[in-house]
Formats: sequence, structure tokens, C-alpha cells
Amino acid sequence: MKQIQAIKGMNDLLPAESPLWQYLETTVADLLHSYGYQEIRFPIVEQTDLFKRSIGEVTDIVEKEMYTFEDRNGESITMRPEGTASCVRACEQGQLLYNRGTLVQKLWYSGPMFRYEKPQKGRLRQFHQIGVETYGIDSADIDAELLLITSKLWQTLGVSEHVTLQINSLGSNESRAKYRNALVAYLEARKDQLDEDSQKRLSSNPLRILDSKDQNTQQLLDGAPSLFDYLDEESKAHFAQLQSYLDAVGVTYQVNPRLVRGLDYYNRTVFEWVTDKLGAQGTVCAGGRYDSLVEQLGGKPTPAVGFAMGIERLILLLQELNAVPEDIFQTTDVYLVVAGNVIPQAFKLAETIRKECPYVRLQMHCGGGSFKSQMKKADKSGAEIALILGENELENNEIVVKHLRSDEPQKTIKQSEITQIMN
Ligand code: ATP
Ligand code: MG
Repeated sequence: MKQIQAIKGMNDLLPAESPLWQYLETTVADLLHSYGYQEIRFPIVEQTDLFKRSIGEVTDIVEKEMYTFEDRNGESITMRPEGTASCVRACEQGQLLYNRGTLVQKLWYSGPMFRYEKPQKGRLRQFHQIGVETYGIDSADIDAELLLITSKLWQTLGVSEHVTLQINSLGSNESRAKYRNALVAYLEARKDQLDEDSQKRLSSNPLRILDSKDQNTQQLLDGAPSLFDYLDEESKAHFAQLQSYLDAVGVTYQVNPRLVRGLDYYNRTVFEWVTDKLGAQGTVCAGGRYDSLVEQLGGKPTPAVGFAMGIERLILLLQELNAVPEDIFQTTDVYLVVAGNVIPQAFKLAETIRKECPYVRLQMHCGGGSFKSQMKKADKSGAEIALILGENELENNEIVVKHLRSDEPQKTIKQSEITQIMN
């Protein structure tokens, strides 16, 4: 019979790699908690309209990447392609966004996202993000804090030499609309010189033309009006403030006037952390400000800023840079070999050790087998120490201790002395 395979672009996480994911996830969670951020969780499917209304109808995500289907009631639901929209919905529904002025939300989430894309290295159909969202603060200090947190994360992970921060400001909705008109007028007059994708975007989502990968289009853009010249005064001041905070805390950045991001809801600050180590999938973390989204989804006006990072890409980066700590793969410290008919007593002893030495990861052998085959498994488990319990040892309240990774001679000790050798 033909074996059933996983869906294309949706990967299993096998135990050989799960320690690396756990390492990354706990590093991020610990860091965020140290800044006072709290975890929020929301469902994997939502009403389709949530994403249409927030991400924007004429974006890549909504036009061609969403997993949308009807449930048994005929209601259109979508597997979340990103977390921000759901986060806003959950905060609204959970009434977290009221009492502005006294209550600020600093939140993070983690989990799978779904986009129907062409699967390749660093680009999957089920991928994973850790996202951070803050609500209720419109000043640039919070934008700076988010960038400081991410920059700290790269340091902790040992990848900071290989990621660079790009920032830009999209201004207010009004100033962006004015700029859009100017850009369209400029490009319309040179339409035949644009690449095919950009020609289409000219009427649907012209700002996206700014980050076209096409060389000719990029050249054409050199002469185009600049977004910066259209920024309203307040957004200019906000952007200057952000840069002064980043300078003050020593986060280095490049201003990239063509950085626009692919989702409609952004205004003012947008940013990306980019690496040159992962080919075309070089953006490991991206985000920005979205001050009108809460209101757009039916809530009271609430300023917001956040970002999301791609876990798969960060894992690839850690591997590429050999920045994976070796000790995270150790899963067992002590392997208890059960030599003979002493399984009930072995269970008891194992529980005592686990209770007295809670930091020790102890695996008791299950499944029987000869002494020799058990010792092989002990070795393969990666444990430092094998404890051997047989009938003779049991009779004398003793246990045999064998160091598996050093030449230290095997010895027999009293069971009551086990805790002493565990340090
Ligand atoms: P890209 O331009 O690479 O398609 P994006 O702008 O669509 O990225 P966002 O929606 O901003 O990405 O998501 C934030 C981050 O999530 C990205 O920077 C990336 O690290 C990760 N990401 C997005 N799409 C995928 C995917 N299909 N597979 C793996 N990671 C992804
Ligand atoms: Mg994309």
C-alpha cells in the first residue's frame, strides 16, 4: 500500500531537532518575560473576514496564500496566515483594550501560521512565528523597546554579527495616500518599463512596487518621488525620535526608504531584520506600527506596534552559523539498568532519585533484554552515568555506578549515597 505523506510544505519536527526549537522558544520567552511581556494564545482558525479586513484585500496573503474553506455550516473560515489580526480580535473580545491611559498591553504569542506559498528553504506552508504586539502607546519609545528586545535576542543567540536592521516610516494614512498618487503618476508615465508584477500592482497596491526585486524597476525607482518627502510633520518627528532612542541604546540600523512591508495595516514605523546567510528568504523578523487596525476591526482607536519572527528561518540561521549550543541535545543524565527480576524495586529507586535530585534527568530502562544490550542503550542515551541494579545489589541496598564518558573505575555504593554522586 502507498504510504501517506505529510502535506507539501508542512514539516514534522523530529526529536533530533526539537531541543533546538525548545532552546529558541525558551530563550525568546525568557527574554520577553524579563521585559514584562505576557503570553496570549488564540485559535488557529478564524472567520475569513478578519484577515480580509485587516491584512487587506489586494495583498499577496489574501489574494493567493490563505487556506480558506467552508466549515460544515457553510461559514468561511481561514487558517491564520499571521497573528496580528487574531491578537487584535482576541484583545477586543477579551476587553483588554479599554481603560487606555492606565492599561497598556505588552503581549507575545507563538505558534503555526499557514500560507499557500511555493515551499522552499525558509519558506513553508505551515511555518511558525513568535510575535510580539503592544497596544496603547503611540510614542516612539515603545517602537525602540521592541527593536532593543530583538537586538538583545540576536546577541543572546550569537547571531548579531549577521543580521542588520532596516527601518522606515510610512507616515500617516493621509500622507501615504498623497505619496501613492505621486508614485502612481510617476510610474504610470513609465509603465512599459516596469516588470510585469509591478505593472499589475500599479493599480492594486502600488507601494509594493518599491520592494520589487526587478533590477530595471529598481533603477526606474531611483528617479521616483521619495516617501520621505511626503511624510507629515508628526510622523517625521516620530521617526526622528525613534532614531534618537536607537542611537541612545546602541541599536544600529539603516534607513531604507523603500521598505514598505506586505500588509496593508502598517503606518509610521516599519522594520525588518535581514540576514545575507539565507538566500532569498533573508528576513528573519519584521514588523511595524498599525495605529488604525484596532478601530478598523471595530474597536476604539488604539495605537499599536509589533513584530513577528520566523522560527524556521532563525533555526536555519543558527545552524548556518554554528551557533547551536551543543549541550541542548543532552536528554538523559543517568540511565538505570535493571539487571534481573527487580523491576518493582527499580521503579521505586528511580522515583526516589527523581525526588531527591530533581535536576537529574533519569531514564529507567524498560523493555527487558540482556545486561549487554541495556548497557548499549545506556551509552546511546547520552547519559553520563549508568546505575546498575541487580538482585545482589538489591539484597545489600547497593547499586553499581558506571561512568560512561570517562575512565573512572566502576564502583559499588550504598543506595543512600546516590545523591552525593549526582552533583
Ligand atoms: P517574505 O517577504 O519573506 O514572504 P513576509 O513579509 O510575507 O515575508 P511577514 O508576514 O512579515 O513575512 O512574517 C514575519 C516573518 O515570518 C517573516 O519575516 C519570516 O521570517 C516569517 N515567514 C513569513 N512567511 C513565511 C513562510 N512561508 N515560511 C517561513 N517563514 C515565514
Ligand atoms: Mg510573504
